[in-house]
Amino acid sequence: MDNATVTDAHNQTGDEDPAVPPRPANPNTRYHTRKARDAEARAAHAAASRQWRRALAAAAFNRDDQKRLLNAIRNGTTVANAARDLGLTHQAIYKRASWDTRFGNQLERALAETCPAGTHCGKPSGARFYHGHCHACRIAKRHPTTE
Ligand SMILES: [Zn+2]
Repeated sequence: MDNATVTDAHNQTGDEDPAVPPRPANPNTRYHTRKARDAEARAAHAAASRQWRRALAAAAFNRDDQKRLLNAIRNGTTVANAARDLGLTHQAIYKRASWDTRFGNQLERALAETCPAGTHCGKPSGARFYHGHCHACRIAKRHPTTE
């Protein structure tokens, strides 16, 4: 390739001001390199950060760990204790269940199978007095409208 070809390829449009570098197309790149804080850049940065955090979470709490947690719950261990045995918190488990729907469904099934509330399941008393931990009991505890 000779010099003339390089120059021609570089000045294809010819109307760019060399003092002003072209605006990066990726809003997340603008967030980092230009300190752009407009809504588009902030949203792109948040999405990239979320994707990164979820990739870390997926690596730290993999399918084998999930199986161990679900087996522990089926054997009567609480979510908090089962999580602690894996070096996690119950908040981390429920957060994971909120976006990892496959795991979330498995967790809710295990909690429903082992809910100790019996006939009080799904009522405020189920969670309050019988340690009901299934989805229905947790909702009833948060919104005690019926008994
Ligand atoms: Zn229940």
